[in-house]
Amino acid sequence: MITLAFYDTKPYDKKYFEAASSPEVSIRFLDCRLNAGTASTAAEADAVCVFVSDNVNAACLQTLKKQGIRHIALRCAGYNNVDLKAARELGITVTRVPAYSTHAIAEHALALLLTLNRKIHKAYNRVREFNFSLNGLIGFDLHGKTAGIVGTGKIGKIAARILRGLGMKVLAYDPVEDAAWAKETGIEYCAFERLLRESDVVSMHLPLLPQTHHLFNEKTFSLMKQGAYLINTSRGKLVDTKALIEVLKSGKLGGVGLDVYEEEEGVFYEDLSGQVLKDDELSRLLTFPNVLITSHQAFLTHEGLSKIAQVTLENLSRLSQGKEFIDATTV
Ligand code: NAD
Repeated sequence: MITLAFYDTKPYDKKYFEAASSPEVSIRFLDCRLNAGTASTAAEADAVCVFVSDNVNAACLQTLKKQGIRHIALRCAGYNNVDLKAARELGITVTRVPAYSTHAIAEHALALLLTLNRKIHKAYNRVREFNFSLNGLIGFDLHGKTAGIVGTGKIGKIAARILRGLGMKVLAYDPVEDAAWAKETGIEYCAFERLLRESDVVSMHLPLLPQTHHLFNEKTFSLMKQGAYLINTSRGKLVDTKALIEVLKSGKLGGVGLDVYEEEEGVFYEDLSGQVLKDDELSRLLTFPNVLITSHQAFLTHEGLSKIAQVTLENLSRLSQGKEFIDATTV
């Protein structure tokens, strides 16, 4: 039997993990996020389950080790919030859920794009107030336009196919190209700069790594097409928020759809509606009429949550039985 301390629990996590429950795993649901200051709450557990807002740095890992924690189960794909080197040195294994619903993320990118372009968020509010005017709601046909996909891994490939299905020309940039897939789907790989110069829509589907931090910055924004849309469902720190605000103020970008934000930790997933928003950059972003922000919800589908719970619990059952983790879930 494995005892699991489950951090940053939301009602939907509890529902899906209880539904997928396994006799080998006993779960202690905790509301707080895991970080160096809260790590002592893992006492008497064997493993911890964390999400994107938990900060599992070296100091946190050392405290976890002292509590007897042997394993960290990330219930997400990205692992940039865990110090993997420190975990390895302490002998703590780490697993993730590499692909839960890749369709969910690609479809959410499309939802952001269509909402922004056809001003559905504005139309919804207007019509509810009996304002049936169409002024200011003009979009453009996506058919025949060019989309640029940055990162053609699992999610980027699905997003590219969806956009091809809308009749868009799709350019792609990835340091590791899949030529056979590109040929089969009619997608053209090109240099990052060309993608930026020629795309009417740029959608980001790449991981946050030291070399991709602030990949979208003053210089890269300057290369983008006048009126282009930028969609980020990947990681907030891929975009330099200060530079984004400046380029939005200049009127260069047609719109920006963000499911992730550079400083989302402690803000996204929380109901702060009764409080003053302390983050000035997020506040500024929310004032632009052509910026649409969702609170890191691209994964939030029935299929996504079911798969996350199933893969995470299966790995913990394997841990309790001394078996290997599911292929490709170890990081
Ligand atoms: P993946 O590992 O399958 O693919 C990532 C691709 O990015 C790879 O092909 C890789 O070669 C490429 N890449 C690496 N460096 C690059 C660079 N500098 N420029 C362009 N491409 C580069 O990952 P995935 O499962 O497709 O996930 C993509 C992103 O989506 C990740 O950042 C992940 O964290 C994020 N994600 C977000 C949510 C959400 O709810 N918003 C959910 C799941 C995943």
